[in-house]
Parts: sequence; structure tokens; C-alpha cells
Amino acid sequence: MTKKHHHWIGGKAVEPVSGNYLATLNPSTREPGAEIAAGTAAEVEQAVHAASVAQPAWARLSGAERSEALHQVASAIEAGADDLMELERLSTGKVDAQLHMEIDMCSAYFRYYAGVVRSLGGRTIDQGANLHTYTRLEPYGVVAIITPWNFPINQACRGMAPALAAGNAVVGKPSEFTSPSTVHLAKLATEAGLPDGLINIVTGTGVEVGAPLAAHPVVRRIAFTGSVATGRRLAQDAGARLIPMTLELGGKSPVVVFADADLDRAVAAATSAMAMNAGQTCTATTRLLVERSLHDEFTARVVDAASKLQPGVDFGPMITEAQFNKVLAHFAEAAQAGLQPAVGGAAYSDGAAAAGMFIQPTVYTGIDPALAIAREEVFGPVLVTMPFGDEAEALAMANDTEYGLFASVWSGDVSRGLRMAEQLEAGQVSVNGGALTIETPLGGYKNSGYGREKGLEALHDYAQVKCVSLSL
Ligand code: ADP
Repeated sequence: MTKKHHHWIGGKAVEPVSGNYLATLNPSTREPGAEIAAGTAAEVEQAVHAASVAQPAWARLSGAERSEALHQVASAIEAGADDLMELERLSTGKVDAQLHMEIDMCSAYFRYYAGVVRSLGGRTIDQGANLHTYTRLEPYGVVAIITPWNFPINQACRGMAPALAAGNAVVGKPSEFTSPSTVHLAKLATEAGLPDGLINIVTGTGVEVGAPLAAHPVVRRIAFTGSVATGRRLAQDAGARLIPMTLELGGKSPVVVFADADLDRAVAAATSAMAMNAGQTCTATTRLLVERSLHDEFTARVVDAASKLQPGVDFGPMITEAQFNKVLAHFAEAAQAGLQPAVGGAAYSDGAAAAGMFIQPTVYTGIDPALAIAREEVFGPVLVTMPFGDEAEALAMANDTEYGLFASVWSGDVSRGLRMAEQLEAGQVSVNGGALTIETPLGGYKNSGYGREKGLEALHDYAQVKCVSLSL
């Protein structure tokens, strides 16, 4: 018997109006996973109403009071981590180390925004004598947070913690493939004392739930993480309604390795782009650009490391069947273009991994940058490598993409690393493994989207500025 999961609206579990549930798959085994409530516009209406009733009192609390409530949510996530992990494991097949890291980050998001909200404030503006002028950061009211299947609970917390800290109420719409952990988060938050209606979760498909949620007139801001195609459509609708959005979309991020880099660390970083969530990461550095004199030696080391990665131990399966098939279609297209991978290039066909949707870590070396596999986001454990001659060529190749989410540079020459960082067209740049954490803003240039998640920037994105001027 698979478990049925309901919506979470107004502080309680709510059964689907339609009476219908959507089946999901355990991607590690292809056995039936959880069943989730198949929501419709009717539950969106209930959830937005609950949020709009709860939000004004929440917004009137002081930052310190909201902070206290958010710390309670963080504690509840810590206490409920095992259950969250289990739900996430069933939906995504992620390996333990990955799950631990993601769930730890969830409570950390709430602690971070609980901390910084205590000093969130506007500024005073000196207009001379007889005027007292200041700004206030005010919430939007009800915000929609639409999340995908690659980091389900993590992305939900990433959006909800700053949105709530800024005084908003949230209606969340998790991916229909991976909803249970997000519903459980809302339950934990309610049990931890967060007022009813501040976090509501409506599950279901993008068309049945996401679209009416994004179009709801009471929703005044949308945070969306997902595909470029859906993001573009939502941005058009949001544009028509003149409401702001945060769009965290795809990437084809470069990792640029110069011959003077710390090679052991650079090899480990390049390899981790395949292992980390099996490449189903928006910021995955899947274009490996290596200085020509080092290219063959370096890529041989990455290929060797890739061949040692173990499915189910070092990385998990493709999380959805559509994604599994999409990666295989990329392999078929690459084969048609005459490419032979140096390692991988197929799904697992024997052992336990063959039962699930596991794809072999794959590296195509020394390929033409114009090929589809070098330009399109694959969202699997797949790297392409390309040699470059000098710094100028490295920069041109790194920027030769429609995306701009992330870039990584490895060089023993720190000045060169920072010079590259200045000119790379990406919202985040890591030089020599520099860390990107909850405190650092995440967001795109170009087709990777706009607005910022994480950091103080997210808190400001979930607030609007009011300026008040008093004549004395
Ligand atoms: P992915 O390829 O990562 O599944 P999608 O953009 O299809 O990316 O999905 C990301 C999230 O957006 C999911 O929660 C999905 O249900 C939702 N979604 C899909 N289509 C729409 C839509 N037309 N309107 C609103 N949300 C949608």
C-alpha cells in the first residue's frame, strides 16, 4: 500500500476536492512511490484565502517575534530530519550524504533568516531641516513559491524562510514528482507554532495547480525554480499583471582550469559535477574547459575518477522518468553526431542500479563547442570537455552560452582568477573552490533568470520599499 499525502492548508491536512491522487515512482527501484493529492484551482483558492487571512497579523509582528517563530520551525526541522529524509529518499532516490547535506541546510535557512530579520530595516534620508524621511521594507502579502523536483525540500525552505521572515504568507506548489517532503515541512512548521495559514502547500500538476496559483490576483509575488520554458511563460503572465518574480532557471556552467591550477582539487571539483545529485543541479559545472597543454592529462584523470563513481553510493538516479529519457536522448543525439564518450554514455544495464533510473557518469572529451551536447543543459551526470589556448579564449568560450548561473575558475594565479571572475557572465563565480552557501546570493544572468535566492538579497527581494516623508 503506498501512502497518500494530502494538501496542507490553513494549518491542517486537506483532502483533494477532486478526490483524486497522483501516483509517483521511486526512482531507485521504479516501484510505486507516494500518492499525492491532485489539486485544482479550488484548493489554490482555499490556500490563497488562508494565507491572506493569516498574513496581516504576521506582518505586524516585530522582526524579533518573527525571528523567534522561525527558530522554532528550524528546531522542528532538526527534530523531524529523519522523517523528512525518508520522504525525500523515496521521491528522489538520493544517497545519504546528499540527503543529510540538504536537510541540514533546510533548518539553516530558517536560522539564517531568523537571525538577519532582526536587523532588517529601511534607512533615513536626509532632506534637510523640517523633513523627516525614512523607508520601510514591507511584505508583498501572499507569495507563491513554485519548486521543481531536483532539490525539493531544500528549495522550498530556501524560498519560504526569507519570504516569511519579510512578513509574507506563502502558498507553495512543489513538483508533482516530489511533493511529500514539502507537505511534511508545512506540518512540522504548524506543530512548531507557526500560525495557521502562513505556509500552505497545494500539490498537483503545473497546469492544474501552478498556473492558477501564479495567476491568482491575491498573489503579489512569485518565486519560481524550474525550466526556462515554464519560467518564460510565467514571466509573461506576471508581466501582464505587473507583479515581480524571482526566476531560477537552467545552466550550462563552465569550469575553467588553467595549467597552473591545484590539479587534485580541480579534478575533484570537476568530478563532483557528475556525482552531486547525479548532475541534476542548476549550477552543475558541466562544461569543462582546460588549458590545451593540460587538457588530455586532466580529462584522463576526470574520466578515471568518473569510472570509479558507484551508483547508489556516490550518486542517485534520475529523479523522473522524463529526465531519464531526456538524458538518453542526448546520448543518442551525440552518437548521431559521431561522438564516442570516453566513459559512460548509457543507463546501467546490470546490478541493482539497472532496476532504477541510474545513468552512468559520462564524459565527452575534446568536443566541438557548437554541438548540442556542449550547449544544452543535459541535467544528468554528463560532462563535456574542450581545450582552450589562452585566457582570452577561455573567457570567450566560457561566456559562449545562453545561460549565466554559475562559473568556476581554477588557477594558481589569483589575479587571473579574479580577472576572469570580473568578466564571466554569471551570477556566481567560484575561484579555486570558493564556497557558495546560504549567505551568498544565488541567481542568474542571461537565460538563467533574474532575482536572487539566498543571502540578504532574497530577504530584500521578498520585501517592497515604502518611503515615508513627514513635514515637521
Ligand atoms: P522541470 O523540468 O524541472 O520539471 P518545470 O518548469 O516543468 O521544470 O517544473 C517546475 C515546477 O513548475 C513544478 O512544480 C511544475 O509543476 C511547475 N509548473 C509546470 N508548468 C507550470 C505552469 N504552466 N504554471 C505554473 N507552474 C508550472
